[in-house]
Amino acid sequence: MDGKKFVVPGDFIGTEEEYLPGEGTRSEGDKVYATLCGEVADKARTLLVMQKRKLASLGIGTTIIGSIENIVEPIALVRVKFGSLAGDERLGDNPDYAVLHASMIKRGYVKNVRDEYKVGDLIRAKIVDIRNGEMRLSTDAEDMGTIKAFCAKCRHPMALLETGLECESCGAKDNRKIAKDYRKVTLD
Ligand SMILES: [Zn+2]
Repeated sequence: MDGKKFVVPGDFIGTEEEYLPGEGTRSEGDKVYATLCGEVADKARTLLVMQKRKLASLGIGTTIIGSIENIVEPIALVRVKFGSLAGDERLGDNPDYAVLHASMIKRGYVKNVRDEYKVGDLIRAKIVDIRNGEMRLSTDAEDMGTIKAFCAKCRHPMALLETGLECESCGAKDNRKIAKDYRKVTLD
């Protein structure tokens, strides 16, 4: 591995032909993916994701994982979370919040945050501005957006089918701005 690489859950970090999956990673097929936010390390051909990065180092350009905490149109309040995505209870919590304006959700016009995200959704977003200590997010890139969406009716995780997102429990269909790797980071 050359240089230090910061990854977020779902990022492809190597192949099993070259590496063994270690802490903070999982393998699918012969590919190794990160399950934590952190720096990739290679120890004796084993890939690890080390969580060295502190939230204090969040800055413009940093990719974060957060949950949609509240929506006051046209703005979503996002709780910034770092940590394992192996289960919600293992997500690291911290008191940092960021804001996401409807116009920053995706390319093209979005009137309301609720057209694309629902409270509780986990999203991957990029910090694009910090003003007066307020972090402002964007999810318009292909790899940004919901990485885990929850049904607005029953709160069950939603699966991505050919036809779009569908609740695995009640069958409700819904729309989201999803990250392109939504399937890979679906946890269930
Ligand atoms: Zn449902």
